[in-house]
Amino acid sequence: MSGRDVLTEYRRKRDFGKTREPRGKRGTDSDSEPGFVVQIHDASTMHFDFRLEVDGVLKSWSIPKGPSGDPHDKRLAMPTEDHPLEYRDFEGTISEGEYGAGTVIIWDEGSYQNRSTDKHGHEIPFARALDAGHASFRLAGHKLHGDWALTRFREGSDGERQAWLLVRHGHTGSGGTPDPRRARSARSGRTLRQVAAEEESA
Ligand code: MN
Repeated sequence: MSGRDVLTEYRRKRDFGKTREPRGKRGTDSDSEPGFVVQIHDASTMHFDFRLEVDGVLKSWSIPKGPSGDPHDKRLAMPTEDHPLEYRDFEGTISEGEYGAGTVIIWDEGSYQNRSTDKHGHEIPFARALDAGHASFRLAGHKLHGDWALTRFREGSDGERQAWLLVRHGHTGSGGTPDPRRARSARSGRTLRQVAAEEESA
């Protein structure tokens, strides 16, 4: 049984939009699929933080415009430092003066499957695919579903920051990114403004 399953009852009894109790660590069993989270972060500049669980940490990219469901949209994704797994549970306000000050909501969350293959169609371990600068994956979230790829297009040498693109694959439907100020948390249903207001009065 995965760590996710053993906490089902604990979570069912609690409304994590109302309590500050932790949801608890998810399992890291090798047979449970790795998780992802997309947070909206109303910092000095509004952005989306896209995080994929890889080898016990959350590999992270800051995406100014957020993911798009349209395969023609190539979304700039700037790598940021690895975050601890528990960060996927973070929704709240980072105080003025602190790093990343501003409000965060969990816009989407779920699990993903590695779909990265070499030219012979053999699966490449996800961490190695990222190192090589191209990783494919299938998301199973509340809002994001289907195939995506992250591709590095700037190596980040000579003091330049590394830069990647996040692109939807294999689907031509709709699914643009909603207005971040109207978007609601997949975890609590709240908007950025509601989270900020509740934290202020807490
Ligand atoms: Mn951020």
